[in-house]
Amino acid sequence: MSLTTKIETPSVTYEQPIGLYIDGQWVKGKEGKTFETINPTNEKPIVAVHEAGPDDVDIAVSAARKALNGVWAETLPSARGQMLMKLADLFDEHVDTLAAIESLDNGKALSMAKVDVGLSSGCLRYYGGWADKIHGKVIDTDPETFNYTRHEPVGVCGQIIPWNFPLLMWAWKIGPALATGNTVVLKTAEQTPLSALYAATLCEKAGIPAGVVNILSGFGKTAGAAIASHMGIDKVAFTGSTVVGRTILQAAAKSNLKKVTLELGGKSPNIVFNDANIEDAISWVNFGIFFNHGQCCSAGSRIYVQEGIYDEFIEKFKARTAKNVVGDPFAKDTFQGPQVSQLQYDRIMAYIKAGKDAGAKVETGGERHGDKGYFIQPTIFSGVSDDMKIMQEEIFGPVCSISKFKTEDEAIKAGNETTYGLAAAVHTTDLNTAIRVSNKLKAGTVWVNSYNLLSHQVPFGGFKESGIGRELGKYALANYTQVKSVRMRLGSALF
Ligand code: NAD
Repeated sequence: MSLTTKIETPSVTYEQPIGLYIDGQWVKGKEGKTFETINPTNEKPIVAVHEAGPDDVDIAVSAARKALNGVWAETLPSARGQMLMKLADLFDEHVDTLAAIESLDNGKALSMAKVDVGLSSGCLRYYGGWADKIHGKVIDTDPETFNYTRHEPVGVCGQIIPWNFPLLMWAWKIGPALATGNTVVLKTAEQTPLSALYAATLCEKAGIPAGVVNILSGFGKTAGAAIASHMGIDKVAFTGSTVVGRTILQAAAKSNLKKVTLELGGKSPNIVFNDANIEDAISWVNFGIFFNHGQCCSAGSRIYVQEGIYDEFIEKFKARTAKNVVGDPFAKDTFQGPQVSQLQYDRIMAYIKAGKDAGAKVETGGERHGDKGYFIQPTIFSGVSDDMKIMQEEIFGPVCSISKFKTEDEAIKAGNETTYGLAAAVHTTDLNTAIRVSNKLKAGTVWVNSYNLLSHQVPFGGFKESGIGRELGKYALANYTQVKSVRMRLGSALF
């Protein structure tokens, strides 16, 4: 089997790498295994890629260590920055191919996939800008001591990413890691390996030295677990489910106490007050839950609407949802494509059934869309009580529940009644309400009169069981640096 294959998508034809990218080489996995990635639109295999197992993780970690102590340590910070910026430019140049790969492999609408590529290049460029601006401090303690801190790279970083934003998560992980002088062994999600492999070819073109970025396709229980427990990995960054996040933390504790950052799930409240601009609020609430087919860790899946506008809101929200075009991701007007996999489709349909069985009212949707591909109708439940499964658990699909509240305190209490704390939103025209409620919601991001807006400059991460650490912005640099204090004695001997 050759290590690239020609793939035709409805928008572009391109050469897809299918090997593992280790030490600047395209190789097969040591166990000789491959696995197929499935097109969620038609349920057919796209291509088989080579699979990494624990031995391949070992080899990739050795390559990353060699690069860390060799070529990458000798690369000036400004040169690292230039490489990241070049990589960002290459992402922009290859936007049509990268977006087509995302739509093919993940099922997201092509127009949205192009936005993902733009956000990814923006993130890489932003961290490229940071590369030569990372420095410590001089700390005065007394006349006879000179103290300074250095912000040094953590070392070899294991990075495990999910399938909902394959390319964007790649950029969120690789940008800050490389800017701060680390090397990377990144494992993609088994559902969506393709765009990361293509992006590795762009790393080569950007001049990033061999061994600095290593990309492995593989499964969580084998390659992922090997990364989490590896003695040669200094830090692991994980995005995915809370269940797996716990195992990553345990594996780190049981191995070498590697540093861990986790970006996990959510069950985020989206609160609409009587005084909100109702048309705008509905548009953001719709985007908050149905963007990316509900496959967002930040999805605004619990919608709380104040009693004065509740009935009007439901009718208008249903009408707005009916305009979301569900269908072929490559079609021009599509907003919502298929769910990523049969497994996710089954999980979501099971949640919809659980909601119906528990007596919640289906306001709209609640069924499969069409008869081919993993499509699900945008679904709104009302009459959902707090103890219902669909109110408590992350569904990760185009399904939301809508509830009525009377007072501000009631909305805040309900909003915070979850083990998660990733995101929340408030819709109101009263500045005081916006600030008061934002301050009281236990969430890493609170959107006011908007939802799901991301910027690489603004930190993102979770309170409570939604994670540990912050990605994006200056804050993410702290995940990838460790502080060394150097204390120089200038005066005479102590005794
Ligand atoms: P998952 O957590 O199992 O997978 C995410 C990544 O972790 C993948 O790369 C996977 O291979 C890897 N992984 C899985 N098990 C592992 C292990 N034991 N050790 C190391 N790595 C491992 O998520 P999933 O099964 O694809 O989706 C399940 C649920 O997770 C979804 O329904 C959703 O609720 C949630 N999810 C959240 C996000 C997010 O952005 N926070 C992303 C994807 C899924």
